[in-house]
Amino acid sequence: MASDQAPFPHRHLLGIDGLSADDLNLILDAAEPWAAFNRGARKADQRLAGLTQINAFFETSTRTLFSFEIAGKRLGAQVSNFHPAASSVRKGESLADTALTLNAMRPDILVIRHEAVGAAADVAAVMDCPVINAGDGRGEHPTQALLDALAIRRRFGRIEGLKVAICGDIRHSRVANSNLRSLPLLGAELRIVAPPSLLPDVVPPGIAAFTDLDDGVDGVNVVMMLRIQRERMPDALSESLGDYHARFGLSRARLDRAAPHAVVMHPGPMNRGVEIDGDVADDPERSLILQQVELGVAVRMACLDLLTRERRGA
Ligand code: ASP
Repeated sequence: MASDQAPFPHRHLLGIDGLSADDLNLILDAAEPWAAFNRGARKADQRLAGLTQINAFFETSTRTLFSFEIAGKRLGAQVSNFHPAASSVRKGESLADTALTLNAMRPDILVIRHEAVGAAADVAAVMDCPVINAGDGRGEHPTQALLDALAIRRRFGRIEGLKVAICGDIRHSRVANSNLRSLPLLGAELRIVAPPSLLPDVVPPGIAAFTDLDDGVDGVNVVMMLRIQRERMPDALSESLGDYHARFGLSRARLDRAAPHAVVMHPGPMNRGVEIDGDVADDPERSLILQQVELGVAVRMACLDLLTRERRGA
């Protein structure tokens, strides 16, 4: 499956930054057959058989770690999860030393999540194998942006020309950072919507910024909601969660301001009743949230496959 494609011209996947639209489309196209494969009864491909995949998650994760683990196993890789909480990291070992230690175990691919921006790139610099960034602090989360793009493309048949509003805590979000790069590259018209304190210091050129959710979602095709990233906020939010919900929570009435058939997305974890109302999140017609999770496995299978091709001589 998918082995007749052009090679992915990068050794690592550290961010959307540095990738072209062709690179993104290559991964999205490679993920499509895996999405179908994952709906089948038997989900076992052996192309990564004999290869070692290490998942090193220094920051907590629910869906991303599990998604990478399932993706690797469905491709036949030997998947090991490195648990920093139970390792020498607690004894003061530096990230560089941990990386060298993991490298000495000769993995064939490393998936890393870390709270420091740039950690994945630092680790990639000392590893002999490809590295995938599964989130570096508020830096980037490229596989999330890719699965988001795939979910949008599958629903609308295209990304080009769609109006997308990313709403909520843009300032501290790596998901926003990666999507702010990928979606314009793929031709979407992007807006960001947040209270002034949660907007980025610099709004990228070509992107419209709104501080009112009603205005921000007006007429858009895709509403992407983000959680408040408290773990990355130096100061507590100045308003109560109730006030935040009143001003920035996605309710049915607000979604009705978007284009007819607009969809709702969220990378999870969701805080129902804060940034999104439960009935909107659960709407079977409008919510793509569980499809995002499903397509995440397919996108990660595509990334694991593409990045290990050279080592496999494929
Ligand atoms: N799961 C996403 C991330 O790891 C979004 C979030 O945590 O809010 O960045």
